[in-house]
Amino acid sequence: MEKKLKSYWQIRLTNLQKALQANNFEPFLAESAAEAKKIVLEEILPKTEAKSVSWGGSMTFTESGLYAGLKNRTDINVVDTFDKNAPHEELMQRRRQALLVDLFITGTNAVTENGHLVNLDMIGNRVAALTFGPKYVVVLVGRNKIVADLEEAMFRIKDYTAPINAMRLDKKTPCVQTSYCEECKSPDRICNSWTITEKSFPRGRIKVILINESLGL
Ligand code: SF4
Repeated sequence: MEKKLKSYWQIRLTNLQKALQANNFEPFLAESAAEAKKIVLEEILPKTEAKSVSWGGSMTFTESGLYAGLKNRTDINVVDTFDKNAPHEELMQRRRQALLVDLFITGTNAVTENGHLVNLDMIGNRVAALTFGPKYVVVLVGRNKIVADLEEAMFRIKDYTAPINAMRLDKKTPCVQTSYCEECKSPDRICNSWTITEKSFPRGRIKVILINESLGL
């Protein structure tokens, strides 16, 4: 059955690859998170000649093993925004620095069938980097992130991804109790900045790796 599932998703991912290409993204296909990691380390990193790397909140990034593979590199300047030993102010400063790196790696909350990336951020560092700043951006996308259109993307993000993320991050928001969005005014609210990335500008700046596995939320 897993083989049939893979074939089903291969077709959908190939169609999405064409849609992303038409929107000026540079799309890649990977059969697994391990293959996605290989594409970043062995193709994208050398091809972009990136001298500095950073990342934004993404479970797919850590699940792929890319975080572990990059955080201790000494041949490039690594701006580690996940460092659990760094104090809060230091991490905020690193998030600012991350907006000027050569290569920024992140995930996406959703991708529509017509090749648009849809995201909602708490701090905004991830969507800022996606929009402008780093020379190149790599977006890692598990097949579970594919949605029909913008309406489905926004519903998925607000009524599924955000409440689970609020639970994961131990936030004091109503959705942690109810499991659905209540448009809270909580100081802990994690839903602050939306972006819809319809196209990559310049062409190829944003590289999207479509992964034939369910990854992240
Ligand atoms: S707006 Fe508030 S209640 Fe709604 S999902 Fe975000 S954090 Fe939860």
